[in-house]
Amino acid sequence: MKDVLINLLYIASAVLFIFGIKWLGNATTARRGNQISSVGMLLAVVATLFYGGLDWKLVIAGILLGSVIGLVVAMRVKMTGMPELVALFNGFGGLASLLVGAAEYHKLHHGGAVEYIKSLTAQTGVTVPLAFAAVAISLTILVGGITFTGSMVAWAKLSEKMSGRPMVFGGQKTINITLLLAAIAATAMLGWQADAPWSVGLVIGLVVVSLVIGILMTLPIGGGDMPVVISLLNAFSGVAAALAGFIILNNVLVVAGCLVGASGMILTFIMCKAMNRSIGNVLFGGFGAAGGKQKAATGEMKASSVEDAYYVLEAARSVVFIPGYGMAVAQAQHAVKELATMLENNGTEVRFAIHPVAGRMPGHMNVLLAEADVPYEQLQEMEPVNAIMPSVDVAIVIGANDVVNPAALDDPASPIFGMPIIQAHEARTIYCLKRGKGAGFSGLENALFYHPNTRMLYGDAKATVSALVAEFGK
Ligand code: NDP
Repeated sequence: MKDVLINLLYIASAVLFIFGIKWLGNATTARRGNQISSVGMLLAVVATLFYGGLDWKLVIAGILLGSVIGLVVAMRVKMTGMPELVALFNGFGGLASLLVGAAEYHKLHHGGAVEYIKSLTAQTGVTVPLAFAAVAISLTILVGGITFTGSMVAWAKLSEKMSGRPMVFGGQKTINITLLLAAIAATAMLGWQADAPWSVGLVIGLVVVSLVIGILMTLPIGGGDMPVVISLLNAFSGVAAALAGFIILNNVLVVAGCLVGASGMILTFIMCKAMNRSIGNVLFGGFGAAGGKQKAATGEMKASSVEDAYYVLEAARSVVFIPGYGMAVAQAQHAVKELATMLENNGTEVRFAIHPVAGRMPGHMNVLLAEADVPYEQLQEMEPVNAIMPSVDVAIVIGANDVVNPAALDDPASPIFGMPIIQAHEARTIYCLKRGKGAGFSGLENALFYHPNTRMLYGDAKATVSALVAEFGK
């Protein structure tokens, strides 16, 4: 009876997760999606507590500690720090799975294989072969370990605790493949004789190898390729959780892990497509490692004043805003929305062009603009907006750089060559808002800033946009 109730609650929470993810796919329903997924998680936790045999002191201490840390971190994190936070979440998800794997192996090794399988059966009503349990333990440790250290390296790169450039050294691929083969061999041996005395050394070796693979896999990825590694590690954290679910035979963990794994993989492929790269090329190519002499930008960067920009905008019939990471840094989204409303009131057609990798995490710009109540219908994807760009009077680039760099179209030696961009340079007039002459995330010079029709509006994006709003209000 208890088992039936637990599984019914698990099914309910799985349904809530599925609806949550579906609703997260649209800005208007995303908040509801997030809430409903949280309710699903609460239900899953409560159902798990029904199993009994738990040390309540530890459970309560864990809930309190986790909630306090989560609350403090979520309240303190700045919007620009979200990508690093997501990397940490992924990493700790991986570490949790690794610890579940290690704890289960400890039980198996010390209590004996027969007792271990018996206790699993007693708890879940399912009897699995020892080889299945051992392989699940081994894979959980492997994927969990890779996710943990890989995410830590991604976090360090995103938060600039270490250089964001790809770190490539000779023989890297050979070492990675050798380590992976060793891990697969260890998994096979554990599946064959999980309770052999030598299996302890094998498991310790597997933990070390998985941690090293995570580091070595992420070090060579950098520059513009970071979005792919973020969503890939997200997918890995889901796979690790699903594998942990197979060890402890927990249905909801398997379902939730598979949902995260599958949606993470879908996002990874969307990100790859957005950058016109294959997943293999991102993982093993090394961003910009091919070398070659990139075209030097010619011409000069021409500065403009807010007043001059106002006169051009006042006369414009169509305006496209192209937001990037700098808009997030400046927290300029509310001022941008205000300017957009003023332009519309002035009879101008306003659109927002969203590049899939603009900012520092998937969907970064959509989140910011939704927060500022920009109507979803005004957000346009790259292809439709590029098609109308030559007829656009003014393109306003707000703290975006790599995603509007024309080198992606016309410089085969550029590391971003082939990446689809928002073709701001096609507009009649282009205003670029940035603080100085600094490069974008990938460190590349941007020919757009030297374009004859481009004018630079130097300064913090929020201050510049607010000054434009003030001009309209005069
Ligand atoms: P970029 O990082 O290329 O450029 C941001 C620009 O914003 C800089 O040129 C900077 O210039 C300017 N800026 C910074 N602060 C301010 C401010 N306060 N006011 C005005 N301007 C400011 O951003 P993009 O969005 O164009 O491109 C995203 C890049 O990040 C891509 O290379 C992408 O691959 C990578 N990336 C994306 C991830 C994702 O999931 N979306 C994850 C990780 C990386 P200045 O310093 O002169 O002000």
